[in-house]
Amino acid sequence: MSIKIKRGVQPDSLMLMAALANTAEIWSLDVTVTSGSDGKHRQGSRHYTDQAIDVRSKELFETVDEKLQFLKRVIERLGPADKVQTPTGPGYQTKDGRWLGILENIGLPLEHFHLERN
Ligand SMILES: [Zn+2]
Repeated sequence: MSIKIKRGVQPDSLMLMAALANTAEIWSLDVTVTSGSDGKHRQGSRHYTDQAIDVRSKELFETVDEKLQFLKRVIERLGPADKVQTPTGPGYQTKDGRWLGILENIGLPLEHFHLERN
């Protein structure tokens, strides 16, 4: 089973949710979304426009490498992707620049995956 979303369906966070759910299904993981458009985020954050979600990363895998592999698979569901380094952490971005996933605050209590539509 997988979730399909027609191109152009809004909000953009639905595309992220489908990519996440489909990857979690393949990897047999239970994932927890910790934030959508709620909560406090930096000014201008994509969260406020339903273009970003946060996902718990801490207890999903033992190593950062495994976390990044999972994140890579999620973003690759949205298109071919390249590894990127951002000010808040490493991640993957689709080659068309539309979708970005970052492992933020690595090793800290607030560590999480941030997925957004660019
Ligand atoms: Zn976020």
